[in-house]
Amino acid sequence: MSIALGCIADDFTGATDLANNLVRAGMRVVQSIGLPDAPVDDGVDAVVIALKSRTIAPEEAVAQSLLALQWLRSQGPSGRAPQIYFKYCSTFDSTARGNIGPVAEALMDALGCGFTIATPAFPDNQRTVFKGHLFVGDVLLSDSGMRHHPLTPMTDANLVRVLQAQTRRRVGLIEHATVAAGEAAVRARIAALQAEGVSMAIVDAVSNDDLLRLGPALKDMALVTAGSGVAIALPANFGIRPTPQAASLPAACGLQAVVSGSCSVATNAQVAHFIASGRPALAVDPLRIAAGEDEVGKALAWARQHLDSGPVLVYSTAESSAVKAVQGRLGAEQAGALVEQTIAAIARGLVALGVRQLVVAGGETSGACVQALQIAQMRIGPQIAPGVPWCHAMPPTAPDGLHITLKSGNFGAEDFFTQAFAALAH
Ligand code: ADP
Repeated sequence: MSIALGCIADDFTGATDLANNLVRAGMRVVQSIGLPDAPVDDGVDAVVIALKSRTIAPEEAVAQSLLALQWLRSQGPSGRAPQIYFKYCSTFDSTARGNIGPVAEALMDALGCGFTIATPAFPDNQRTVFKGHLFVGDVLLSDSGMRHHPLTPMTDANLVRVLQAQTRRRVGLIEHATVAAGEAAVRARIAALQAEGVSMAIVDAVSNDDLLRLGPALKDMALVTAGSGVAIALPANFGIRPTPQAASLPAACGLQAVVSGSCSVATNAQVAHFIASGRPALAVDPLRIAAGEDEVGKALAWARQHLDSGPVLVYSTAESSAVKAVQGRLGAEQAGALVEQTIAAIARGLVALGVRQLVVAGGETSGACVQALQIAQMRIGPQIAPGVPWCHAMPPTAPDGLHITLKSGNFGAEDFFTQAFAALAH
């Protein structure tokens, strides 16, 4: 087994987003939930290890990332470690103490890496970097909703300053004019920065073309740190070109179901669309769960009646006023955990009933379902919507194989739930 690229992602849905971009650029990719406990298949070009290290203490994030690094380095082509990619959020989400700086620095130390880049640019998702400043759509990061984030409020759009506050290494900037001039200019700028004692640089990029021009200059870099955007440019460095084969998964079979614990605007519209199209759907009520009623048993008994005639939907999805009312009664955290556990138990029960094509809506909900289904590794397949691929896993709960897709809140068009199954049938 030998991989070209070893990736460490600081959260779960971010790992899938990165894997999706690598597959679209031609790599065959396996995503591992935490440290892999078994070897990955032969013929895989990249492994993405999904950690949950974004907001934990920096020392703990560093320790987990170094363990992931150790595993990845043991998987490289004989005599050569794979290139390492540290993936963080495209809004550079970090706490006051880190963790982007401390983790990047520790990985550099462990790899003996003298220089790395840092750029969250992801133009496909309206994240661009110019003069070292991060824009979310048309506004600076510090003017975006991220300034009010409960765990990682981002109040400074100047990424050189943000990263410098998190690391002892000197942070510089590779400006857009340099990136636009191509590989030789970027390499010259890196050499000049290194001569000044700078060992990490924020890189400007406002388009996919910028990222593709940057790519060749990253060829020999032991460590790349970035959002998922830079991933579109790396496979070419290994002679890998986009091909539909990269996304090929075993043929889909079995029953079809959707479980949704997301209350985002897009998911509400997707649930409404599914119901309006006349397909069977059952709502799960958080207050009945809290009252100790057997919502899992009820949902599974209902599903048994309908599964044979096509996809069913079980959902707790509700409009924000209803969610607030429930949170007022149960507390936000407790309501969230109760509903997540219930949806995850339903997902597990559906798989026991023979569901082998499962759509999960909601980031936290996905985490709970993956855990309940005991999924340790997933092969990444074709994209359904930007950032959302089908995946294939062979967990103990479905040893014959399960197709699963994890849709975070605001992704996907209105017909996502039906479109997803159609995408798999191709
Ligand atoms: P998203 O990706 O849309 O943010 P998540 O699954 O990450 O979705 O988060 C949704 C949260 O809301 C979960 O903790 C879930 O359990 C909780 N939740 C789902 N439905 C309800 C509801 N009807 N009332 C209160 N909380 C809910």
